[in-house]
Amino acid sequence: MNIIVCIKQVPDTAEVRINPETNTLIRDGVPSIINPYDTHALEAGLQIKERVGGKVTVITMGPPQAETALREALSMGADDALLLTDKAFAGSDTWATSYTLAKAVEKLGADIILCGKQAIDGDTAQVGPEMAEFLNIPHIAYIRKIEEVKADSIRVQRLMDEGYDIVESSLPVLLTVVKELNEPRLPSLKGKMAAKKAEIKKMGPADLGADENNLGLKGSPTQVKNIFAPEAKKDRKMLEGTPEQQVDRLIQELRRLKCV
Ligand SMILES: Cc1cc2nc3c(=O)[nH]c(=O)nc-3n(C[C@H](O)[C@H](O)[C@H](O)COP(=O)(O)OP(=O)(O)OC[C@H]3O[C@@H](n4cnc5c(N)ncnc54)[C@H](O)[C@@H]3O)c2cc1C
Repeated sequence: MNIIVCIKQVPDTAEVRINPETNTLIRDGVPSIINPYDTHALEAGLQIKERVGGKVTVITMGPPQAETALREALSMGADDALLLTDKAFAGSDTWATSYTLAKAVEKLGADIILCGKQAIDGDTAQVGPEMAEFLNIPHIAYIRKIEEVKADSIRVQRLMDEGYDIVESSLPVLLTVVKELNEPRLPSLKGKMAAKKAEIKKMGPADLGADENNLGLKGSPTQVKNIFAPEAKKDRKMLEGTPEQQVDRLIQELRRLKCV
C-alpha cells in the first residue's frame, strides 16, 4: 500500500500577529511547526501501514526550510520524504498548491493520500479536495475514524454536524482528517537520530513535468487584496440555550434591531 501524507509547515499561530501599519503577518521570530491536523494525517498513515503493510511518504511544498517539517515526520516514522521547492512555486494560491502537489502524487503513485482538514494559517480547507479533483479520484473529508482498509477499498467515518456518516470508497482515494481521528505519536530517540541523517528528496517543476503556467503566482487565480486584523466590536451578546432557542432569540434580537 502506497500512502502519501501531505504536510504543511505553518507558523505557530498562537504567536502570529499582524503589523497594523503594513497589514502583513509578522513572521520574524515566530516558530514553525507541522500543521497540527497533518500530524493526525501522518499518524493515520502510519497506523494503516502497521495494519496492512506498505510505505508512508510525506510531501510538502514550501521553501527550503520546510525540510525541518519533513525531518520531524521522518522521526515519527515516515519512510520517505519529498520537498517540492523552487522559486517557480512562490506565491501559489490553493489552486496552484493543489496542482503542484497532485503532480507529485502522480509521479510517486499512491493508493491513499492523507491531508489535514485544513491548515491553521491559510485555513481554506481547499487543498485536499482540489488535489483529488486534479487527480480525478474520490475524496472523503473530515475523517474521524478509519474502520477498514482492504487492498482495493476503504471504509471510514466522516464527521458531520450531528453524528457521522459511514462512507466506503475504492482506492485510490484522498482523505482529509480531523483531530478526533487519533493521538499522534511522539518521535522516538532512534527515529530522531535516523531523521537527522536521512536524505530528503527534492523536486522542482521539471521533475514533476508540471506546466509552468499553472505554478506559483503566475498560475494562481486568487489575488489577495488586503490582510487585516478584524476590528474588535465591543457591542456583542452571547445567546444561550439549545440551538433552537438560540435561533428564536437571534430572530427576536434582529427584529428588535429592525434588521428583519
Ligand atoms: C494569491 C496568493 C498568494 C499566496 N502566496 C503565498 C506565498 O507566497 N507563500 C505562502 O506560504 N503562501 C502563500 N499563499 C497561501 C497559500 O495559497 C496557501 O497557504 C496554500 O495554498 C494552502 O492553502 P491553505 O493554507 O488554506 O491550506 P488548506 O487547504 O487549509 O490545507 C489542507 C491540507 O492540505 C495540505 N497542504 C496544504 N498546503 C500544503 C503544502 N504547501 N504542502 C503540503 N501539503 C499542503 C495539508 O495536508 C493541509 O492540512 C498565497 C495565497 C494566495 C491566495
